[in-house]
Amino acid sequence: MSHLLDVYRDKVTRLLPSFDWYPCDAYSPKWWGGLEDPEEVAITAILVQQTRWENVKEAYKNLRAAYLNSFVTIKQSDLNSIKRCIKSVGMYAEKSKKLKELADAVVKAGGWESFINRDMKEVRVELLRLNGIGYETADAILLFAGNHLIFPASRLVARVLERIGFDIPKGYEALRKFIEAKLPKDLFSYKLFYASSLVTTKIACRSSNPDCLRCPISNICYMFAYKQASNIP
Ligand code: SF4
Repeated sequence: MSHLLDVYRDKVTRLLPSFDWYPCDAYSPKWWGGLEDPEEVAITAILVQQTRWENVKEAYKNLRAAYLNSFVTIKQSDLNSIKRCIKSVGMYAEKSKKLKELADAVVKAGGWESFINRDMKEVRVELLRLNGIGYETADAILLFAGNHLIFPASRLVARVLERIGFDIPKGYEALRKFIEAKLPKDLFSYKLFYASSLVTTKIACRSSNPDCLRCPISNICYMFAYKQASNIP
């Protein structure tokens, strides 16, 4: 997997900003959409579930304009005001409730810093206990908004790994541990690997009919080599 990480560094890093990923200092929140505030990273990680990032951008602009881009103000706000701001995202009613629940937990902990800067396992359990926050969202919040060393084991990452030739385990936790065991133990590598994998699926490695001729990692892909050897277009 370190070979794939090298290819991502060489060929995908420069493509990331076109897809709203911004490689920078390992500890910066800006990786995630160029956002400068970790709370906005956490909020948009919830909003982006099954939703296009363009729609999320509109929602967080509305949240900012209404001063609802922090958990303290979300906690103080009524549910309908949040719903109005995030109508551009799918399942906005459910997501409004999730934001309120997370805001309750954050305020109860004494604020964002106190909430996120605890033992990672403790924060993760609390995030997963919240209604509708799944493993990938929780781990994306931990990594990109909290700088905890945990990998969000997205099915999109799994797709790329499987196609380039890895025999990947089934189940979220097994996949996460499998990837983490093979990556260098640093935030920069985790963030770069995640962002680059997602961008690779956007550029070329779609669920059906992958566009291998446009793919930046085709030189190390088993499926591409097989297709070429078999004259499959
Ligand atoms: S070469 Fe094709 S199958 Fe392989 S990772 Fe790229 S798009 Fe996916």
